[in-house]
Amino acid sequence: MQMFFYLLTFVFLFSGEDPVDQYSSKDQKTVVCFIYHRFDDSRYPSTNTSAKDFESHLRYLAENHFQVLSLSEAFHYLRSDEPAQRTAVITIDDGFRSFYENGLPLLKHYHMPATLFINTGTVGAGDYMSWQQLKEAMHAHIEIGNHTETHPYFLNQPSSTRYAMLEKEIKDSQNRTRKNLDVTPAVFAYPYGEFDEGMKSVVKKAGFVGAAAQFSGVIYEATDRFEIPRFPVAGTFSDPANFTEKAMMKPLKITRQSPENTLLSAGDLRPKLTLSFFADDLQIDQLQCFIQGGDCEKEITANGKEVTVTLRSSSDISSRRRTLYTVTVPDKAGAWHWYSHLWINNHQK
Ligand SMILES: [Zn+2]
Repeated sequence: MQMFFYLLTFVFLFSGEDPVDQYSSKDQKTVVCFIYHRFDDSRYPSTNTSAKDFESHLRYLAENHFQVLSLSEAFHYLRSDEPAQRTAVITIDDGFRSFYENGLPLLKHYHMPATLFINTGTVGAGDYMSWQQLKEAMHAHIEIGNHTETHPYFLNQPSSTRYAMLEKEIKDSQNRTRKNLDVTPAVFAYPYGEFDEGMKSVVKKAGFVGAAAQFSGVIYEATDRFEIPRFPVAGTFSDPANFTEKAMMKPLKITRQSPENTLLSAGDLRPKLTLSFFADDLQIDQLQCFIQGGDCEKEITANGKEVTVTLRSSSDISSRRRTLYTVTVPDKAGAWHWYSHLWINNHQK
């Protein structure tokens, strides 16, 4: 009898068809990351989220059994062997006092962590949280991230000085945070969500585990950790229905893209973007594209299982500083998949 049991075990172990091995749970892991700035501060409608809306966001995450992590924890989760589960990250940029007054109490109530990116040069001044308030936030499981010392527009600097300036801003900010809070931030957020390849290299070299951008999208295992997408949930995007839609969003996994860069070349008024991805169970005929400030011209071709879509704005986008090209497509189960590409015209204010 016992021999029979061993034999069964042997057959099971060596059959080579263990479903867990066939499909690593890492492949299925996704993380939605949200970006907030101000809370219940109606002076700045486009970057404000009301406490009422924020409360409804947190309640939604709690009621739908999301795992809520800090950004550093999310990087760890994506690489770990932990089972896949619905996961969200809440990030807050700039360290405004309205977060301390109207946002932090709600996070504490729901026992949820978040990542707060601070500009160390303005801590304690005007509208910004003090070091003491930041310490209190840390006790409530708020991770402190680096958002530079003075929050400049790096892309307005000539490339000859841009990278040295970023390096210095990062170093000064790390030192000041270490001195005042006794922690060394492990994550970075680009001021205004603006970056180029050189800036990414500087951030990597500075030893961060990842960096948050400000275009929208869903994080998955293959996402570039130094270009982390985040969904804005302020202003008109803060209503609960929009939050729910973004919380359930899936990534559109791009396999090839041209061009890769974000900076608009001079005179390129209607840049063309080509994206390729696998059709899998996506309903390609339902694909939509959106371009801020204009209509989207799209052309779709299929080559076996690979789909290539070329997007182009029907109007001049160069009058805007930042423009997103966004593609969404539903799968056969009805879930939407999202990808955005950011264009920056650094000659615009
Ligand atoms: Zn900022």
